[in-house]
Amino acid sequence: MEKGLLQSKELYEYLLRTSVYPRESELLKEMRDITAKHPRAAMGTAPDSGPMVAMLLNLLNAKNTLEIGVFTGYSLLLTALTIPYDGRITAIDRDREAYDMGLPVIKKAGVEHKINFIESLALPVLDKLLEDRNNESSFDFAYVDADKMNYKNYHERVLKLLKVGGVVVYDNTLWCGTVAMPEKSVPEDRLRNWGPIVELNKRLAADTRVQIVQIPLGDGMTVCRRVV
Ligand code: SAH
Ligand code: CA
Repeated sequence: MEKGLLQSKELYEYLLRTSVYPRESELLKEMRDITAKHPRAAMGTAPDSGPMVAMLLNLLNAKNTLEIGVFTGYSLLLTALTIPYDGRITAIDRDREAYDMGLPVIKKAGVEHKINFIESLALPVLDKLLEDRNNESSFDFAYVDADKMNYKNYHERVLKLLKVGGVVVYDNTLWCGTVAMPEKSVPEDRLRNWGPIVELNKRLAADTRVQIVQIPLGDGMTVCRRVV
């Protein structure tokens, strides 16, 4: 599967070649090379969504961030490189092996101290975080890129964890373009998460607690800013 949603492959490559790759840190390139060796490499964050995430982090002056779905760590490293020296990322993934694959690059980048990696299913960790009232409204930014079935459950919890004005980004919300297809035309391997993603998109569009923008970068990202 080609990453990117742009209708022409040439246009997608143009975008990567012109504004993404020339500005991508060597460390992130290295992370992509390591990730390419993973049997499920296609899960890695698409490089064209990186600059968007970095821009948001900078605009927010984000210091305290959350990541659900780390995999080998492309988005994690990107975040760690972008936030300040004393910034902090709570990063959750049930798969430590994938995280360990990218860890040498994180160490080399000198940003490991910003990361609190929690090997676990995400939902119980979010609930645990919410048990401590100090964590409410304390995060500037969250990146959600794990099991799509649970996005709606993550959303309720992440909104409580975010500050008013904080931003959560949901990845893969255009699901390879299949969200625009009738269910019967959706390819078999895309079907399982299709329903939850279509439902999430509807929910977010109707959710008055957030300002949203759906961006056709990568596999589709929905940026939600908590407004109340
Ligand atoms: N953001 C990553 C890609 C994440 S891929 C990058 O930049 O490359 C999705 C990840 O979500 C996988 O590593 C998988 O182990 C993790 N995951 C899936 N379901 C999960 C769950 N319920 N709880 C925690 N992690 C989960
Ligand atoms: Ca993703």
